[in-house]
Amino acid sequence: MFEKLSKITQAISLADNQQQVLDLIVNNVSKELNVEVCSVYLANHDLNQFVLMASFGLNQKHVGKLHIDFNAGLVGLVGQREEPIHLQSAKSHPAFQFIEDINEEEFSAYLGVPIIHQRKILGVLCIQQRDERRFELDEETFLITLAAQISAVLSYSELDAIISDEKQSRPVRCINGIPASSGVAVGVAKAVFPNLDINSIPQRKTDDVQAEIKKLNRAIKRTHIQLKNMSNRMKGLISDQERSLFDAYQQILDSAGLEDEIEQQIQKGFWAPYALRVVIGKHLKAFRSMEDPYLRERAHDIEDLANRVLGNLLKKNSFEVELVANTILVAETITASMLAEIPLDNIIALVSQKGSSTSHAAILAKALGIPAIMGLEPCQINRLDEKTMVVDAYNGQIYVSPDKAFIKRYKKLVKEEQRFVKDLAKEQRKPNQTKDGTSVKLMVNSSHPIDFLKAQNSGADGIGLFRSEIAFMQQQQFPSEETQTQIYENILSGFDGLPVTIRTLDIGGDKQLPYFKINDENPFLGWRGVRVTLDHPEIFLVQFRAILKASLGKKNLRIAIPMISTVEELYECCRLFNQAFAEIEEENTDGKLILHRPQFGIILEVPSAVFQLEEIMKRVDFISVGTNDLIQYLMAVDRNNMKLKNLYSHFQPSVLKILKQIADQCRASGTDLHLCGEMASDPLAAILLIGIGYRELSMSAGNLSKVKRAISRFTVKEMQQLAQQVMVYQTDSKIQSELLKAMDDRGLGGLVRAGR
Ligand code: PEP
Ligand code: MG
Repeated sequence: MFEKLSKITQAISLADNQQQVLDLIVNNVSKELNVEVCSVYLANHDLNQFVLMASFGLNQKHVGKLHIDFNAGLVGLVGQREEPIHLQSAKSHPAFQFIEDINEEEFSAYLGVPIIHQRKILGVLCIQQRDERRFELDEETFLITLAAQISAVLSYSELDAIISDEKQSRPVRCINGIPASSGVAVGVAKAVFPNLDINSIPQRKTDDVQAEIKKLNRAIKRTHIQLKNMSNRMKGLISDQERSLFDAYQQILDSAGLEDEIEQQIQKGFWAPYALRVVIGKHLKAFRSMEDPYLRERAHDIEDLANRVLGNLLKKNSFEVELVANTILVAETITASMLAEIPLDNIIALVSQKGSSTSHAAILAKALGIPAIMGLEPCQINRLDEKTMVVDAYNGQIYVSPDKAFIKRYKKLVKEEQRFVKDLAKEQRKPNQTKDGTSVKLMVNSSHPIDFLKAQNSGADGIGLFRSEIAFMQQQQFPSEETQTQIYENILSGFDGLPVTIRTLDIGGDKQLPYFKINDENPFLGWRGVRVTLDHPEIFLVQFRAILKASLGKKNLRIAIPMISTVEELYECCRLFNQAFAEIEEENTDGKLILHRPQFGIILEVPSAVFQLEEIMKRVDFISVGTNDLIQYLMAVDRNNMKLKNLYSHFQPSVLKILKQIADQCRASGTDLHLCGEMASDPLAAILLIGIGYRELSMSAGNLSKVKRAISRFTVKEMQQLAQQVMVYQTDSKIQSELLKAMDDRGLGGLVRAGR
């Protein structure tokens, strides 16, 4: 059975479109299981109906035309129950629906299984047989397994259909992702492909066929030279047999007709990279479907070779492409370094298939006030290129090629939003306080030169989190004490007189240094943050020394240690810090600038530390709660996994309980309490946090004015009552909707959704 299954899924993976997928399924299943009928019905959620999309054995004239209501027939029953239905005699079942002329009544045995993707019913797959009989158990499990396997493929092609539907023949449909930086935008998508990958090249037209052909000839020639050089360089380093790979590549490049085939595609009016993609795609398909494993494996070589030619074709970095006004940048992965590299002036929104609301690109987007959606559902993002799109980053939804009326509605929302932001900016200079005048410190998280200016002009009360690893990531090796001192000096003087929290190196997890790779199997549960720096005191001490040197003559430094999970770790950090402090004090012989003892604290983000808080608080001046990781570790949910985005929520009751417990303990012991996770950037969460007892929140600069407005419209007492009221609820959705209601009651809905 396993072989039969893989044969079908392999065939499906090579299909060009959804109809081909469905036809392959019904034909192959009926053949492999030797059944007389196999059909696939797909759900149309706009109409609440299933549509017969492919069938082997039923009257073909109904394919694409037969609609069955969600609550009708056996198909409807499978959909409603969300489980397989197995009948010896379908006709005798009360739900059986007679359909004229489909010839179904001849078949007795029936087995229908639902096709479900991420809890959503996509369709029903069923088999039927003339005789009254029960299907074997392994036939049933075969069908269940196949339905589970194809669900992702079908959801993918469903999204693809949304992308291709230029005329919007259906009601306006969206593709979902994770809201990462709030805002709305209407513009034209630009798909970028920084890691050259032939499969991600968009279809573009050219006006100059001859110029494209010349580019192709040059790129192929250049690839030849590179391969020859590579082969020569490898002489003596690898075996002759391995080296023959380069010859094989040369032969493929020379092979009769390859260049001609690509030229023919260019003649059709496509730009050279797309022409290359089409031709290579055809060859890849042929290789991948070969029975011989050796030949099948050659597909990798062809792909690799194609990417080399592509590199030569594009020559320049993809970011050098001109970005016209109102560009929505779309990519498989948008990284923080990409944002540092590209001119951001014309970019009005970001859409990335990978990443989450707490990934670093999202954090930067928020700081810069650019709407962003991360973790987009799997779809062919290269096909979004040059499409008109609406991005609603409040809901995490993109709309592709929507109709004019829809665009008009969103353009109006964009204008309202711009007016609203201007209006908020007017209050920037006012103190950060609640309606009853209680002061609340609103700080910013800033770690990147590109958002520093924005941070300085945001009206913040200081920097609540400087992620020092970002500066380390931009180097080619560990930065020296002098280089680091300069970086910390800039940030301390840039916020002179206001507190600045510098967090010590927090690498591991999803943050890697290019020159110090950490290859943990389970990186978020591995060698991270303080675990790394304690194992490398030589790196830790240099950082402490540089931070302290930068603070000479200043009183605004705070130091925070990330990822503390035991008190031993904290003791060891204190020992090393004291050693560095003593050294700098001793070296500061001229005494012109005084070395002040900075505030020393931890980022509280590992649940185990919450249970040792009493002991920890004896050793530190402050606790800064890092909700990004605290939620991840409390809920056992990867903060970057979009499949689990509903679970990774700062409104989960258990999250609120732990946050309250921390606040109560800190208040009782008189320890300063801050919160620096992305939760603080959400105005809805901010009022709740004040109600729970937090008085210092550190957030993205782009969200500060919204949080400021929200807290200024409630008294502390009102926020406390609201917190008490919502904390009795058992689900995050209920908590969120109650908070939303409270915001709406005060006319503050515009802070958390598009429009006022
Ligand atoms: C956190 O975990 O909440 C935090 C502030 O740090 P980071 O997002 O850098 O892990
Ligand atoms: Mg963290």
